[in-house]
Amino acid sequence: MDADTVMARCDALQEHTEEPGKLTRRFATPALEAATATVEGWMRETGLETRRDAVRNLFGRYEGARDDAPAFLIGSHLDSVPDGGRYDGPLGVLTALAVVERFASRGERLPFALEVCAFSDEESVRYGTAYLGSSAVAGAFGDDWLDRVDRDGIAMRDALRAVGGDPDAIASCARNPADTVGWLELHIEQGPSLESEGLPIGVVTGIQAAVRHAWEVRGMAGHAGTTPMAGRRDALAAAAALVLAVEEIGRAMPDLVATVGIIDAEPGAMNVIPGRVTFTTDIRHPEDARLAEAMAAIDRAVAAIAGERGVGISSTELSADPSVPCDARLRAVLHDAIGAEGFPARDLASGAGHDAAALAAICPVAMLFLRCEGGISHNPAENVDGLDVAIALDVMERALLDLGARP
Ligand SMILES: [Zn+2]
Repeated sequence: MDADTVMARCDALQEHTEEPGKLTRRFATPALEAATATVEGWMRETGLETRRDAVRNLFGRYEGARDDAPAFLIGSHLDSVPDGGRYDGPLGVLTALAVVERFASRGERLPFALEVCAFSDEESVRYGTAYLGSSAVAGAFGDDWLDRVDRDGIAMRDALRAVGGDPDAIASCARNPADTVGWLELHIEQGPSLESEGLPIGVVTGIQAAVRHAWEVRGMAGHAGTTPMAGRRDALAAAAALVLAVEEIGRAMPDLVATVGIIDAEPGAMNVIPGRVTFTTDIRHPEDARLAEAMAAIDRAVAAIAGERGVGISSTELSADPSVPCDARLRAVLHDAIGAEGFPARDLASGAGHDAAALAAICPVAMLFLRCEGGISHNPAENVDGLDVAIALDVMERALLDLGARP
């Protein structure tokens, strides 16, 4: 199966959307079900044995040299962000299927089975649950997730039932690590590095550590006309100083990214000095220790700004995800495969989270990044070159053959 088929299928899946004219495919929606059913049809045409689990993940299995051999998992997710692009997720599922089709068409069996995985939720748009589909497979489905409600007040439990899932059987989604050889995902880079270096494909070193906080700055509200500038305790001015401090810390440390994404001032009137401000920080680095250093620098800036401006500043940790390194042996196999296809194997850290972060709990994980136009993603303008997809198919096929040949 060639890259043209993969490209045409990425195009075709766009018709399954919640919003006409845009690509929006959230977890447990008829649009996602329709896209998944379409992919399941393609899997069956390829001769794979398909299976849906309790959270509506889809699997297509191609047996190994002996029945019931442990499986190597390859794939990605089929859900999307609102008004997203056609390649984020589906490209990984459809390249995986195309590679398995090559083995199937030759009747070639590897020492392990190949299972193409299409996860039902990676983007966490509807319920704020990171890697829902792969977490279920890793046996790490959150205790409170089924009770979460979406914006329309629909509980996950009910949404799942409505599309044929089984909220009472989540535990049955978990894979036995002994039956799981590894995980490989091809994903668009969602960044500009490969394009700027003229390379089609790169090897992911790992998924970077990320820590998120909610901050509160407490100053003193007052009359904007009658309160002199001296002695003001303006919570928003203090927060502004902090936002700039966070940006400066982000710029000072190589590979650190630091973002304030939400800010709210109260009481929020033109003629009132803001008395209380809340904001968020999202700080990421490939190395846990460097991330901790950055957080310490932010804490020092907070203490200095609070002292200078006479405001109280406190924070709550919302999430802290350690870095997830990709498996060294699988990375070496991918390096060799890219080299054999005639390209330098560039290492890249992943700035975004991916299903590998969840699956690393049960098996060695690896990822390939594919060059994407302008580094644009989570956007309808997302684009990849079919020639690059052809290279990716050859690299993936070669890597699986190589893995099969190793003891
Ligand atoms: Zn994705």
